Amino acid sequence: MSLTTRFAPSPTGPLHLGHAYSALLAHDMARVAGGRFLLRIEDTDTSRARPQWEELIYKDLAWLGLTWEEPVMRQSDQLELYHTALEQLATRGLVFPCSCRRSDIRAALSAPQEGAPLAPGVYPGTCRHRPMRERKQGDAIRLNMRAAVQDIEMPEFTETGPKHAESHQLDPERLILEIGDAVLGRKEIETVSYVLASVIDDAAQGITCIIRGEDLYQITFLQVLLQGLLDLPTPEYHHHRLIRDDHGKRLAKRDDARAIAKYRAEGATPQDIRRMVGL
Ligand code: GLU
Repeated sequence: MSLTTRFAPSPTGPLHLGHAYSALLAHDMARVAGGRFLLRIEDTDTSRARPQWEELIYKDLAWLGLTWEEPVMRQSDQLELYHTALEQLATRGLVFPCSCRRSDIRAALSAPQEGAPLAPGVYPGTCRHRPMRERKQGDAIRLNMRAAVQDIEMPEFTETGPKHAESHQLDPERLILEIGDAVLGRKEIETVSYVLASVIDDAAQGITCIIRGEDLYQITFLQVLLQGLLDLPTPEYHHHRLIRDDHGKRLAKRDDARAIAKYRAEGATPQDIRRMVGL
């Protein structure tokens, strides 16, 4: 099977050196393997996605010397598919509506818990008993993790990145305690969470290897579970090291000082960028 990979930025700010590394690495790996390199615009967060950032993504990537297949997939064109997937999970009783606010969740987590302790930030299950037909405007949709891990045989995935290179079998107990009832549909009725949208699109684009930053390694366990639940193929994963600033902090979208556009304006060449990220 030939390698098909993608770069999937969210148009919520300028691309920085970390994005450049991810895109260049994925592009180079595809070219070396004689495979395909695709681009996907992850614009489901309508409160932050902007057309000017999308335009800048095309400009930055072209300037770096990358080429990709047209047409580019945009998540805002795919909403129907996401809703169908959510409905499928709802029919099987694997999701529930949730009206908890952050403060409700904090309060519930500070009360004494029964059983094994949940990892920090894991949803305490307050709304888990609610059926989907009672979903109200403004409710999020969460995966019922306890039901989900009983619904399928635990899938596995192969990681080839430098840090966790091996086969990983999903462990139901860890999924319950460390990930829990993840949000799949957001409060705004139209939007699904990135974790679900991305899984559906990787399958739709025929991605065989996902090359992305180490910061997304943990979420892979949830995404592989979703692939199992939705009967989608599991690609191979390659999580690469993160590009950090001089203080060792990983770069964020608001880190405009390291924006590719800024280096370009200052006269840097694409080769300079490759050198800066260690390629
Ligand atoms: N859209 C995500 C981001 O910009 C990347 C998702 C992925 O590569 O799976 O962080």
